[in-house]
Amino acid sequence: MPKIHFIDVTNRDTVQASRINLSKLQKTMVNYYLGQMGIYQSEFAFPFVKSEQNYARANLSLRELGAFGNLILEGWCRASPSDVAEAVSIGVKDVNVSMSTSDQMITHKFGGRLDRAAVIKEMTSAVTYAREQGMSTVGVNAEDASRTDLGYLVAFAQAARDAGADRLRYCDTLGYETPATIYRRVRTVAEQVGIPLELHCHNDLGMAVANSVSGARAAIDAGVDAYINTSVNGLGERAGQADLLSCILAIKFAREMDDYQIGDPLNLRVSAKLANYVSYAFGVPIPINQPGVGENAFAHEAGIHADGTLKDRRNYELYDFELLGLDLEAPPPRGRVITTGEFGGLAGFEHVYERLGITFGSKKEASQILDLVRYATAHNQLNLTDDELRFIAKYPDQVRQILTITP
Ligand SMILES: [Zn+2]
Repeated sequence: MPKIHFIDVTNRDTVQASRINLSKLQKTMVNYYLGQMGIYQSEFAFPFVKSEQNYARANLSLRELGAFGNLILEGWCRASPSDVAEAVSIGVKDVNVSMSTSDQMITHKFGGRLDRAAVIKEMTSAVTYAREQGMSTVGVNAEDASRTDLGYLVAFAQAARDAGADRLRYCDTLGYETPATIYRRVRTVAEQVGIPLELHCHNDLGMAVANSVSGARAAIDAGVDAYINTSVNGLGERAGQADLLSCILAIKFAREMDDYQIGDPLNLRVSAKLANYVSYAFGVPIPINQPGVGENAFAHEAGIHADGTLKDRRNYELYDFELLGLDLEAPPPRGRVITTGEFGGLAGFEHVYERLGITFGSKKEASQILDLVRYATAHNQLNLTDDELRFIAKYPDQVRQILTITP
């Protein structure tokens, strides 16, 4: 039976959205939590963007060290051999190459430079090159797939498969689909081409999660694996994209989903930590009504609801808050607090680390980590979290590389 996997694109799609950013260390921590959670893949970088390259190299080496579990780190490229060559040059082993496929974009973005046949030719040249370079996986993104003529999309997918692509990304770039329409179209592509499908759904009409789940069902029903693209807290271009946790919860707890299984063992107790971290790093609060991790997701006040929940939580709750690690999140300390940061000294630094259960073998080693903590705080422009402090102490060489943005 084919399965559903998750490809989180927070570190690519969300960071490219307007007005919100992550530092390279924060992107690294997102990979760290995705790895802890058991997510299949992180679209972790633009490998051809120079400011990403030290981060990308360091994260690939962290993966080798086991810092991210089995998480696959995949780079996003435009469908051109030169982008793929940049990815190869920094050691990226998994890529997705992206090409617009709708007549709207072919006509009004490419402006006559490319027609439908040339679009397929550019895409296949990138896939062929990526295969020649020994990439482990090559995905092909059909940008604006949802507004693409279905017959042409099938031909595009077939050409991708013939050139050696492992998957086709069905991009609902503008959030145009409904659950019923994406089901029909994805099922057609999957049945006619037999290629595993990625679902990449945006939320402009508020249907990203529903469309992702429906598209995944279509792929599975057609006999191929489904890969849902998500972001943490649903942030992304414009109105965002499919929220990671909402998609997982829908697959696990929605009606008639028993035949649709997630293909990776997930540790959902990381969910609250991941959501809170991403909210902190972006400076974007989690909505009070966010599924699973919003402050009101398990709150009850109305008489009938409170009474019913107290009698049996299943009266008003589909799933348990403990499942998501909400019970693990500690409130911030009160009273006197010692912190460390860009302008901190050794005594405060050592005090903070002792509280985390970490001591250093020598003053020299402590000073070296303190230096990194100072740079990391300057880099993030936010107080470091306990997990960031732990990470810096555990992987100082890679963190040093991550903090160096200039090539
Ligand atoms: Zn997108």
